[in-house]
Amino acid sequence: MPKTNFEQNHCELLPVKGWINRIFEENITMSDIIRLLPDSIANQIAAGEVIQRPASAVKELLENAVDAGATRIQLILREAGRSQIQVIDNGMGMSDTDARMSFERHATSKLRSAEDLFMIRTKGFRGEALASIAAIAQVEMKTRKRGSELGTCILIEGSEVKSQEASQCPEGTNISVKNLFFNVPARRNFLKSDQVEFRHIVDEFHRVALAHPGIVFSLHHNNQENFHLEAGGLRQRILSIFGQGHNERLVPVDEVTTIVSVTGFISKPEFARKTRGEQFFFVNNRFIRNPYLHHAVQAAFQELIPQDSFVSYFLFLELDPSRIDVNIHPTKTEVKFEEENNIYTILRSAVKRSLGKYNVTPTLDFEQETSFNFPAPSVNKPVVIPVIKVNPDFNPFQSRNSPIDKPGTESRKESSVYNPQSSIHNQQSPEKELNSGNQELRTNLIQVNNKYIVTSIKSGLMIIDQQLAHERILYERHLKEIAMQKGRSQQLLFPQHFEVTPEDYLLAQEIMNELRNTGFDLNDIGKNTYILHGIPVGMQESEAVMILESILDDFKHSGSHSGREVYEPIARSISKVMAIKNGKRLTNEEMQTLVDELFACEAPMVSPSGKHVVITINSDELEKKFK
Ligand code: ADP
Ligand code: MG
Repeated sequence: MPKTNFEQNHCELLPVKGWINRIFEENITMSDIIRLLPDSIANQIAAGEVIQRPASAVKELLENAVDAGATRIQLILREAGRSQIQVIDNGMGMSDTDARMSFERHATSKLRSAEDLFMIRTKGFRGEALASIAAIAQVEMKTRKRGSELGTCILIEGSEVKSQEASQCPEGTNISVKNLFFNVPARRNFLKSDQVEFRHIVDEFHRVALAHPGIVFSLHHNNQENFHLEAGGLRQRILSIFGQGHNERLVPVDEVTTIVSVTGFISKPEFARKTRGEQFFFVNNRFIRNPYLHHAVQAAFQELIPQDSFVSYFLFLELDPSRIDVNIHPTKTEVKFEEENNIYTILRSAVKRSLGKYNVTPTLDFEQETSFNFPAPSVNKPVVIPVIKVNPDFNPFQSRNSPIDKPGTESRKESSVYNPQSSIHNQQSPEKELNSGNQELRTNLIQVNNKYIVTSIKSGLMIIDQQLAHERILYERHLKEIAMQKGRSQQLLFPQHFEVTPEDYLLAQEIMNELRNTGFDLNDIGKNTYILHGIPVGMQESEAVMILESILDDFKHSGSHSGREVYEPIARSISKVMAIKNGKRLTNEEMQTLVDELFACEAPMVSPSGKHVVITINSDELEKKFK
C-alpha cells in the first residue's frame, strides 16, 4: 500500500510533545480534524493491550526466543521485572536491519501473506510485542545472526532509537528491558507487590517451559536461581517444575482423532484437591484458557472425585491451525475452535478412556481376569466404554427372586457384566461357576463394626463399605429408571417457587422432558419462574432447588442433549439419601445380596461421589504384616 503524504512526512520519530502541539494548532485552522497517531503514541496505546504487567513482557520475550529456535533460554529478573527483565537465548539471532525493524509496529518475520494467518505455528505473528515494550521501557538488545561474524547492539527508549552499533556478542539474542512503564505512571502505580508480580511471571514461565520441555530454561530473580530446567520429556518437565511428588499422580492421555489429537497427563482422582491446582491446556503448544474445555475434563472425572474439587492436568491439543483462530485476543491466550463441541466430546472421552486404561476407574474386563487382583496398569489393554446395565426392578432387600437363588435368570444374565465368580472359576460352565462361586463368597462374609463387609478372595482379602456399596447400587438403578422415563415423583405439600436467570429459564424449557423423566414436576409460570410441585422420590425437599440449579449449570457448560448431565446429579442425590447407613447391622442374607448386586454394577469400585467402595489386601501384603 502506498504511504500517504501524512505518513511520509510524519512517520519519523518526532518528539511527542511538539507533535501533539502541532495537532492542536492545525485543528484550530483546519476543518478536517482526523489525524493518524504518530507511532510512538500508537505503540504506547497498543502496549496497554499487550503489556499489562512485567509478566506480559516476560511472556512475549520468552516466546520470541522459542520462535527463534533457541535450545537454551535464560530469564533474569530484578525486582519482579519492574527494574529489569532480561532474556538471553541461543536462537537464530537477527541481522542489523532486522534488529532495527523488530521494534516497528506490525513488523514480523512470521507472516508474509494473509493466508499465513491460517497456518500459524509460531507463538508470535502480530509484530506488536517488541514495539509495545520499547514504547514503555528502556530496551537494550544485543543480537548476532547465526553464522554472522559480528552482532549489533541497539538502545531504544520510549520508541526512540538512541543508538545502534556493532557488537561482539554470542550468537542469539540478549534483550534487556529496564524500568518498565517508566513513562506510563498510571500503569506503574497499579502494579501489585513484588511478590504478586513475581508470581505472575513464574506462571508465564511455567506455561512456556511446559509447552517446550525440549528447551533448557532457567530463571534468576534478584541474583538467585529459582528454576533450572533441563531438557527432557513432558513428565520430567512437570516433575522438575512442580516436584517429584507428582510422579505417582500422573496418568498419560493419548488420543488421536482426525479432528484433534490429545496428549499429556492428568492427575489421578485420589489427588483431587479443593483448590484449583495445576491446570494447563496447550493448543498447538500455546497455553490457552478455556472454561469450556476445562469443563470437559472435570466432566470426565465426575463420580470419581468429590464435588467442588479439582484435578491437575497438562493437556496438549494438536489440530490443523486453519481450524482455530488465535487472533481473537491481544495476548493470544484465547482461541476460537471451529469444532468446539466435537473437541469437547473427544477431550472428555480421551480423559475417561485413559482413566479406564490405567485402571484408575474400574472399567475392568473381568472376563480376562483370573483373580480379584487389581491388574497392573497395562498400556495396550483394549478399553470398553462403560454401559449401564442394571436390572431396574431389583431391590437388594426385598426381592424374592434373588440372583443367588436363581442363577441364570434374566437378572443374573444382566449381572454377568461384572462377575467376580466367573473370574475366579473361569474354567467352568457359567452356571456351575456361579453356584460354586456364590457358595464360596456366601460362607465367607463377615460384617465388621456394622460398617464393612469382609470376605476372603482368591488373592487375599476384600473389604466393602456397606453404605457406599448401596449408594452405587441405587445410583445405577435410578439412572436406569430415569433413562427409561420411569422416574417417580413425590408431590410437595407446599409447591416451591423457583426463579432463575433468563438464560437458565430457557435452558430449563429445553430440558423439561428430561427433568420430568426424573420425577421433577415443574410448571412454567412465566417471568423466569417455575413452580415446583413435585420432586423425585427419595430426594430431600431442602436439596431440590440446589440440585436443579446444579443441573442447569452442568447442562449450560456441556451443551449436551444426551440427558446424562441432567440424570447423573439427580441419581447421585437420591442414592445418597436412600442408601442404608453405616451402623446398620446386616443379616447374612442381606450382605450376600448387597455384594451380589454391587458386583452386578457397571462401576462397583467407586461410589457415585467418587470414594472407594471396595479395597483389597493381597496375600503378599498380609504376609508382610506378620513378619
Ligand atoms: P512477533 O513475535 O509477533 O513477530 P515481536 O514484536 O515479538 O513480533 O517480534 C518482532 C520480530 O522480531 C519477530 O518476528 C522476529 O523476527 C524478531 N525477533 C524478536 N525476538 C527475537 C529473538 N529473540 N530472536 C530472533 N528474532 C527475534
Ligand atoms: Mg513475539
